[in-house]
Order: sequence, then C-alpha cells, then structure tokens
Amino acid sequence: MNSQIDPQSLSQSPVPATEPGGEHETDVIIVGAGPVGLFAVFELGLLDLKSHLVDILDKPGGQCAELYPEKPIYDIPALPYCTGQELTDRLLEQIKPFSPTFHLGQMAISLIKRDDGRWQLTTDEGTTLTAPVLVIAAGGGSFQPKRPPIKGIEEYEDESVFYAVRRVEKFRDKKIVIAGGGDSALDWTVALNDVAKHVTLVHRRDDFRAAPDSVNKMRDLVAAGRMDFKVAQITDLEGADGRLSGVRLKSKEDGEYSVDCEALLPFYGLTMKLGPVADFGINLNENLIPVDTEKFETDVPGIFAIGDINSYPGKLKLILSGFHEGALMAQAAFRLIHPDKRLRFEYTTSSTNLQKKLGVA
Ligand SMILES: Cc1cc2nc3c(=O)[nH]c(=O)nc-3n(C[C@H](O)[C@H](O)[C@H](O)COP(=O)(O)OP(=O)(O)OC[C@H]3O[C@@H](n4cnc5c(N)ncnc54)[C@H](O)[C@@H]3O)c2cc1C
Repeated sequence: MNSQIDPQSLSQSPVPATEPGGEHETDVIIVGAGPVGLFAVFELGLLDLKSHLVDILDKPGGQCAELYPEKPIYDIPALPYCTGQELTDRLLEQIKPFSPTFHLGQMAISLIKRDDGRWQLTTDEGTTLTAPVLVIAAGGGSFQPKRPPIKGIEEYEDESVFYAVRRVEKFRDKKIVIAGGGDSALDWTVALNDVAKHVTLVHRRDDFRAAPDSVNKMRDLVAAGRMDFKVAQITDLEGADGRLSGVRLKSKEDGEYSVDCEALLPFYGLTMKLGPVADFGINLNENLIPVDTEKFETDVPGIFAIGDINSYPGKLKLILSGFHEGALMAQAAFRLIHPDKRLRFEYTTSSTNLQKKLGVA
C-alpha cells in the first residue's frame, strides 16, 4: 500500500494544491475525491454548480489510486480496459472545465448546520468549507495510518511522531527516523534526506516492498555516508511531554541500542475506517449511509451520499453505480440550491449550452 503523500507528487501533483486553512464558500462540498466524488464534480458542473473536494489522501482517485493504481478495471462502460490510475487521470481530465478546488491531505472532521441553513465542514488542518449541499462520497471510509505497536506512542503523535508528511519544512534540520519498507518509507527517506539534518531508516529486514529505484537511491545515500539504514525493530520511545529525544532499537546482530532523533515517521501502511463521518449526525446502518434511490439523499435534507458509502436495496459497490448516483444527486442538489429555477434535461451531444460549459463550443 502506498503512502498518504507521495513525495514525487509534491512536484508533479495532478491537481493544483490548495493551502490548508482558510474559509471557503461553494455550492457543493464533496467529502471524498475517489472516482465517484470526481465524477460528481462533472455532473454538478454541467448544472453550473461549483464543487470543493476534501480527501485525507494527498491525491485524488480514492481506492483506485491508492489500492490498485496499476491493476486493470474491465467494467467501466465503453472503456474495455483501464488501470485504477488511468481511470483517475481520465476523470481529472473530464472535470477540468469545472475547475474544482481540492483540499487534499485533510480529514473532514466535523460538520455543523449554520443559522443560514448552510453546512459548515471543518478539516483537521483548520480549513472550513460552507455550502448549501454536502455530498458524502467517502467510499469505504477514510484511509488512516496503521499505528505501530509501541507503548506510549500516542503521547508523541502530532508532536514528534507523524504518519504523513504534510509539510516538508517541518523536518528541516531535524534528526529523523523513518520506519517501514514500502514505497512511502523509501520515497520519504530519499526526499527528506536533503531537508533533514540526518535520516535513519529502520526496517525489520534488509528486503523492501518499495520500488527498486527508491531502494537503490537509499543504498547510494548510505554508501555515501549521508544517512543510516538499520535492520532492527523499534521497541521503545525516549523523550518526555510528547517530545522525542530518541528511539530504542533491537536487532539480533546488535542487541538493544538507541538512535537520537527529534521526529519519528512510521509508514506501516493504511487501513480504511469510516472515521469522523460517523459523527456527522447522519443515520448509519452497519457503517453505511442509507439513501433513497431518487436523489441519493440521506435522512438529513441537503446531505447526499453516493458511491461505496451508501446503501439501498440492490446496491452494487461498483464504480459505474456511483457514477449514476452522482448524476441523480446533482439534479436534486440543483433543485435544492435553486428552487425557483427550471432544470432542463439536455444531452452533451446536442446542447450548445452544455458544450460551452465544457469549453468545446
Ligand atoms: C482491489 C480492488 C479492485 C476493484 N476493482 C473494481 C472493478 O473492477 N470495478 C469496479 O467497479 N469497482 C472495483 N473496485 C471497487 C471500487 O474501487 C470502488 O467501488 C470505488 O473506489 C468506490 O468509489 P468511491 O469514490 O465511492 O470511494 P473511494 O474510492 O473509497 O474513495 C473515497 C475517498 O474518501 C476519502 N475519505 C473518506 N472519509 C473521509 C474523511 N472523513 N475526510 C477526508 N477524506 C475522506 C478516502 O480517503 C477516499 O479517498 C475495486 C476495489 C478494490 C479494492
């Protein structure tokens, strides 16, 4: 499984980054930038509704981009074959005309209804988004890091233990320990080596799941004396009041010893959990959100749920089902936002109006 933030994406991000924090107003807030959240932007855009998307991942694409970017999908209508990443890239291309705003690397954590009837969503990075319509496209839930089984680690989290790199500058001139053997651990080891004072990579064996190119780069850095690699397990943390001073390591060869550090970055993979959406005050059934099949609205007016997160009789957790749900949700969202406006049914093939919005007429 990949990291929450791919270091290479810092320079090659497929979507423009939005600085965390600040207050934003829009027509529709979408929690989840998986394939279904992305296609919802398109359907909403055809109706002149602007979208902001929030995702805890650093990149759009949800499960397709995170869990199976290189696996083929064979059941997207009219696309006999495409990989998870290709589907994501195509969706991003398709929604370009509508310039959605992405708030990536941020968890949607709380929701309130304002006095003016609009929804106000807040992220763990302090971004607030206000809109009359909220769409939950949270799939199987938010991707959350696996916590290593180290006693007392919670005390250090967010102070000196980090499961994602949201700002590289945070680690400038720091002594850091990175733990893990997958792409995230290796990519960040290489990327942070130029920023940090010193990097030590810790992995339980001298064998990696990460891309060979990153492993080779790491080995070159070790050979050049620019970083350390330890085959060991982390057994304990040293420090006080949330501030690390070192980690305790143990290995067959070297026994127990300490490595000085001010920050620890464990990259032990991600799991999917429903997370904060469970506290949004929406009716849930077995961690899914029941909706009607006319509008895909939840039991709370103005809050819709589409894609893997919803449930209704006959629901199939397929991408194509989520696309259909997004189209119907968009119609309902338009009627809710513009109760006095007429909604005309139009085809993209023959409507100059729609083609203008798509920038092709
Ligand atoms: C290995 C594999 C193969 C598959 N193959 C196929 C296939 O061939 N055909 C097919 O149709 N389907 C397939 N699927 C299923 C398909 O991937 C899902 O149906 C699809 O991804 C659902 O899209 P979604 O947008 O609803 O949710 P997701 O793709 O799960 O995206 C939801 C996004 O919401 C984010 N999120 C959730 N909660 C929060 C929060 N509180 N704050 C911020 N972000 C949040 C998550 O981080 C995630 O990025 C496959 C799935 C897997 C795992």
